[in-house]
Amino acid sequence: MLPGLAVASFRHHSLCNMVKHLDTHLRSDGALADADTWIFDLDNTLYPSQCDLFAEISQRMTHFVSEFLGVSREHAYAKQKSYFQTYGTTLNGMMQCHGMGPHDFLDFVHDIDYGPVEPSLQLSTALERLPGRKLIYTNGTVKHAEQVIDRLGIHQHFDVIFDIVAAEFVPKPNKAPYEQLIDKEDIDPKWAAMVEDMSKNLAPAAALGMRTVLVQSHFEWDIGGDADHVHHVAEDLAHWLHRAMDHHGPDA
Ligand SMILES: [Mg+2]
Repeated sequence: MLPGLAVASFRHHSLCNMVKHLDTHLRSDGALADADTWIFDLDNTLYPSQCDLFAEISQRMTHFVSEFLGVSREHAYAKQKSYFQTYGTTLNGMMQCHGMGPHDFLDFVHDIDYGPVEPSLQLSTALERLPGRKLIYTNGTVKHAEQVIDRLGIHQHFDVIFDIVAAEFVPKPNKAPYEQLIDKEDIDPKWAAMVEDMSKNLAPAAALGMRTVLVQSHFEWDIGGDADHVHHVAEDLAHWLHRAMDHHGPDA
């Protein structure tokens, strides 16, 4: 907690042009600067969407679905997209509709080249400056998350990774796993902030009382920054965190 920061923040009416609604949304009972828990999505949030790890993951999903169902790659790809839209993830659709077990699928699709993710000293120093607990909440797996944060050089900043296995394979944006995470980690949503690249995944967080930050990426699913449940928008996470701390941090 950073006493006084919410008050101090009102003196900085232009924190950054990448911050949405900063002044109008600051509240004395739960301003972003006062958050004591930061929940970060993993893919396309902690690393730039340009790394495009999902391209290889998606190809491997198609391969797995094709083999599992005994259908062509084209048919498998159509199923994959349909399940993503309807069930939140391809995995969830395959489990619901075909009784597929999750573990072989998850191991296979995350067996990718993590080379495109480069170390980010800027992000590491931003996380170092950020007060409070930092958690990762991903629709992927702990193993996948650890590969990514090892590459980024930010492993040391996180003490919890809440993954799709911990969420009992119910993906974001279903509300149940958010509540499960809050309960398991004893999080007070009023003092928590969630950072995500997919607008729809921020809706349950906002409904539960969290502050929300949308990290922009170049994928079409990221539209939605104008939604009421998006409180802040960042073009570049590390830069945005540094700017926020410059204006609101303990050394401001
Ligand atoms: Mg993401």
